[in-house]
Amino acid sequence: MFIVEDEEDILELLRYHLSRDGYTVTTATDGEEALSAIPKIMPDLVLLDLMLPGVDGLDVCRKLKKDTQTAAIPIIMVTAKGEESDIVTGLELGADDYVAKPFSMKVLIARVRTVLHRKGQPPADADATLCVRDLAIDPRRREVLVKGKPVDLTFTEFGLLRFLAGRPGWVMTRDQIIYAVRGEDYAVTDRAVDVQIVGLRKKLGKCADYIETVRGVGYRFKESG
Ligand code: CA
Repeated sequence: MFIVEDEEDILELLRYHLSRDGYTVTTATDGEEALSAIPKIMPDLVLLDLMLPGVDGLDVCRKLKKDTQTAAIPIIMVTAKGEESDIVTGLELGADDYVAKPFSMKVLIARVRTVLHRKGQPPADADATLCVRDLAIDPRRREVLVKGKPVDLTFTEFGLLRFLAGRPGWVMTRDQIIYAVRGEDYAVTDRAVDVQIVGLRKKLGKCADYIETVRGVGYRFKESG
């Protein structure tokens, strides 16, 4: 695991807890150092502070994701309060997740585990029926069941639900949702995504809260448990 953080006390805290949890930790205190070390070390995960002196965290993220050698390394951004637009940019650049400061070590370690676990899993069969608690989504028949009862969704609502449910725990920005559901050239506004979500939640009834709003960032399908 590679930690990029310019605040020494936070860096030491992270190093301490993650090492104790069994991770091999390498660190850098600025973006340039990180960009030169990461391709050599090829860590299984990068924990990336966004506010760095010199090359900032978003630039580090952009460069790592552009380079085919490092593109697959998962990135968890560490952000300050009020950096929602940076979080959105980072997620769209390919970062996997984020934690906002001040974070609890427990939450951070849980995120790290989730992202590492995801990485090791084969991609799900896109046509297989997806069952999450009281919800079943059958892509072949374009059918959705809530507690065994069919729910009538529009084409867009179905696409939205399938996209979010296929990646439980991932925060998706509105742009990522638009891109996935309607394709690149389709002009849909952020507001239109919100309206679709409202309609979708209404139809999902008891399962409405499976779709969480991540304030200022986007939406996330709740993970099981
Ligand atoms: Ca910082």
